[in-house]
Amino acid sequence: MAASNVTGLATKLRSTLKNSTVLTPDSEGYAQAIIRWSDEMEKRAGIVVYPETAEDISTAVLLSKEYSVPLAVCGGKHGSSGAASIEGGLQIDMGHMRDVSIDLSNNTAKVQGGCIWKDVDEAAAPHNLAMIGGTINHTGVGGLTLGGGYGWLTGRHGLTIDEVRAVTMVLADGRIVTASSDENQDLFWAVRGAGHCFGIAVDFTFQLHPQENPVWSGQMIFPASKALTTVVNFANNLVATTDGASAMVMGITQPPFMQEPAVVATVFHDGPEDEAREIFKPLLDLNPRINTTKVRPYVEQNSLMNGPVDYGNRKLSKGVPYTLPLSPDFVHSLVGELKKLHAQVDGSTKSIMLFEFFHMGKVLRPWQDMAHAIRGEHNQVMIGPFWLKPEDDATVRSWATNTAAVVRGELERVNGKEVADSIGEYGNYDGLLVDPQRIFGKNLPRLAELKQKYDPENVFNRGYQLVAAP
Ligand SMILES: Cc1cc2nc3c(=O)[nH]c(=O)nc-3n(C[C@H](O)[C@H](O)[C@H](O)COP(=O)(O)OP(=O)(O)OC[C@H]3O[C@@H](n4cnc5c(N)ncnc54)[C@H](O)[C@@H]3O)c2cc1C
Repeated sequence: MAASNVTGLATKLRSTLKNSTVLTPDSEGYAQAIIRWSDEMEKRAGIVVYPETAEDISTAVLLSKEYSVPLAVCGGKHGSSGAASIEGGLQIDMGHMRDVSIDLSNNTAKVQGGCIWKDVDEAAAPHNLAMIGGTINHTGVGGLTLGGGYGWLTGRHGLTIDEVRAVTMVLADGRIVTASSDENQDLFWAVRGAGHCFGIAVDFTFQLHPQENPVWSGQMIFPASKALTTVVNFANNLVATTDGASAMVMGITQPPFMQEPAVVATVFHDGPEDEAREIFKPLLDLNPRINTTKVRPYVEQNSLMNGPVDYGNRKLSKGVPYTLPLSPDFVHSLVGELKKLHAQVDGSTKSIMLFEFFHMGKVLRPWQDMAHAIRGEHNQVMIGPFWLKPEDDATVRSWATNTAAVVRGELERVNGKEVADSIGEYGNYDGLLVDPQRIFGKNLPRLAELKQKYDPENVFNRGYQLVAAP
């Protein structure tokens, strides 16, 4: 990409865009604009545009093509694959488009493509409504929704994409279209799982659900050496017996206030306190070192895990599927993998592995319903290394790749190779960018066809490669 094209494009964008902010590396606010959830993903874009309207997004896309300057799109900036940032090119940052409007006539929300989940949770709460959002509320609605979306309400209602009623998209040819079950049905199929490859989501229309009750939830922290086996066995049983109202995320990590690895149980019950206390009694009786469980409004739920995974430092999130029941011995062996990382890489003790224990009954749908193909009974382990220095990037990535292979190995040991091979990867936890075949499975040929129809020049090429990169 020629530097003169980037300069020319910046000048043109500044004179053409009506309602948007255009930054270049010499602008005030530029340093802030390229910050990402993981410092490793910070890249020095040649231009950052914060659009305010669909029309300005469309103009930016068309001008980037005219000037041959590649583009990247970002929303909540949580991706750790590098797809949402760009060295030297045009960064379209949706962060100025964060409105949420609720339509109480049908309990839907129109949510702009730059929102984070906190925006949605807080707009819906006064109406006793909620959406299946991410479990950490500073995560972006755009990236999470376009790739699937699991959350605390998955047990009750399924995936985020299952509740998308329409998406307004800016396409590679600049058109602003609606994708829904009535309009552009093939695009609607594609954007629910592979949306990042098809355009820029201006807004989503979500079906909200009544969320009348306060919920019971919080965190319990135990020394792993004493409690891990009990906690894993409890969680296996929880998923097997809940109707979807209860869920848990189990972390293994080394908290700064403990001298040994800990198991952190973040628990959730969408129902009354006495019912919750009975269900979670085996954990409450285990004498947690810290216990923050209590009755709280649902709107607080997606902030419970925010702190330890906030912005700052270098991080990666790589998901690998696992099936229940999870073996406690296997999780003990993963504590050993974490210790190996601590020994190898300075400043890596904040690293965490998060095991989701969600009831999957509402997720099970035919894989061909929409692009998102991962519809099995399995849950995800999120391998989340934290580190400080760029010189450790390769070591940490290699550790994450090896640890992901260890978890895959366990999936094979438990289920046999053929079944394990049929279980794909969740694209949104794909910090290491695997082959799209592993993410979309049998949906890949149709996606490749639709990519030719909607983005034949592969303008949106920063994530999975559905067709060859230009
Ligand atoms: C701390 C943390 C917690 C998480 N929790 C969950 C969880 O509970 N459930 C879950 O399912 N996933 C979760 N994830 C994974 C998350 O879904 C992905 O990282 C997702 O890509 C983040 O979206 P974003 O908008 O924040 O990221 P970004 O890095 O901004 O974008 C990620 C991808 O989405 C594209 N994109 C973003 N917005 C738009 C838009 N408006 N139009 C077109 N493309 C867009 C980008 O181009 C990029 O390809 C979590 C990740 C992290 C780091």
